[in-house]
Amino acid sequence: MNEASSYQRLREHLTYLKLDTAAENLSPELDRATKEKLSATEVLERLLELEVEATQARRQRGRLRWARYPVHKTLADFDFDFQPNLDRKVLAELSTLRFVEDHRNVILLGPPGVGKTHLAIALGVAATEAGYRTYFTSASDLAQTLQAAHLEGLAQLKLRTYTQPSLLVIDELGYLPLDQASANWIFQVVSRRYDRGSVILTSNRGFSDWGQVFADQVVAGAIVDRLLHDATVLNIRGHSYRMRAHQEPTTRKGGPAVVR
Ligand code: ADP
Ligand code: MG
Repeated sequence: MNEASSYQRLREHLTYLKLDTAAENLSPELDRATKEKLSATEVLERLLELEVEATQARRQRGRLRWARYPVHKTLADFDFDFQPNLDRKVLAELSTLRFVEDHRNVILLGPPGVGKTHLAIALGVAATEAGYRTYFTSASDLAQTLQAAHLEGLAQLKLRTYTQPSLLVIDELGYLPLDQASANWIFQVVSRRYDRGSVILTSNRGFSDWGQVFADQVVAGAIVDRLLHDATVLNIRGHSYRMRAHQEPTTRKGGPAVVR
């Protein structure tokens, strides 16, 4: 068999096996191999490396789409100088994603605008990029979705959306009061994930208010109990980032000196 037909067959094999990136790069990589006098092993390694990289990138995009983050945020865009009471070391530790591997939780508490959702998304996106399956939901969406599925007899199936990912981000607990059924769905998800997968939860209410949020002290206590087991709690007490332009000038960097 001559070189040209051998090349054609090789291209067909790659395409048949759906190794499209390798197929597309076959000709340039062979040219390079001739020019740089690369061995057969080096050419094969390089071609498969390109295919592996393309597959990883495609899977990562798929996981990110599936996770449904409302916006893309990263830890790099978070201004820690604006939130001086937030411990960077704790965030640096969380960004190693060991908490996901160890099935630990992260609770972000604080008033509106301090960056709870930003940090929750940033950690979730980092975990997704590292290869973990993650999912983002608000607390009220989670409850409504499961209640709707329940009415169609599909609650068990739908619960998997919230129990299977390695990391579940539950945003905005406490913004809306939850009825008994909603509280029960949140309890179901949290208790099924207990010790099996991580939760990042954000809330504008402290734990002592959760009894009111859930309209049921017992369920609230049971949820807090499971969430807090082996959890990192970050209480952000700073100012709202949204309102930063409206702060008194003396608290801003480079603002005028205080005149008494
Ligand atoms: P919260 O969830 O605590 O109400 P968000 O995370 O939604 O607050 O933050 C509100 C907006 O301000 C978002 O666009 C977020 O990206 C931005 N933001 C908040 N804190 C910071 C910060 N320290 N550095 C950069 N952007 C921030
Ligand atoms: Mg928020």
